[in-house]
Amino acid sequence: MDYTIKKSNDEWRSELGPEKFKVLREAGTERPGTGELLDEERSGTYTCGACNTELFKSGTKFDSGCGWPSFYESVRPEAVELLEDRSLGSVRTEVRCANCGSHLGHVFPDGFGTPTGDRYCMNSISLNFTPAE
Ligand SMILES: [Zn+2]
Repeated sequence: MDYTIKKSNDEWRSELGPEKFKVLREAGTERPGTGELLDEERSGTYTCGACNTELFKSGTKFDSGCGWPSFYESVRPEAVELLEDRSLGSVRTEVRCANCGSHLGHVFPDGFGTPTGDRYCMNSISLNFTPAE
């Protein structure tokens, strides 16, 4: 995919710092239950931790019990890019920011009881949160 924002690994690394770089640019995963946004319950907007594009609204966040912030829907279908991920011996669907290609997490079809049935399982460190005014 041809992303709007293109930067070299060195540029990303110096801009994001080592922890964010590892998750956003090297598809790392933060430890469950540790993310800053896991228990965020205020109204507001979640944006990409690398390029600040709007990705999720607080109204679609739900408590999935999985240890990572979970959403049942992105703000617009084209805001995220979905890719097949065959790492770790299983087939999962990776979720990336469609604007800059940064790794956000995975989406699973087990958002039980939500309007879409999807669970966007996101790393806190991949997102920024802006509370509504
Ligand atoms: Zn982005």
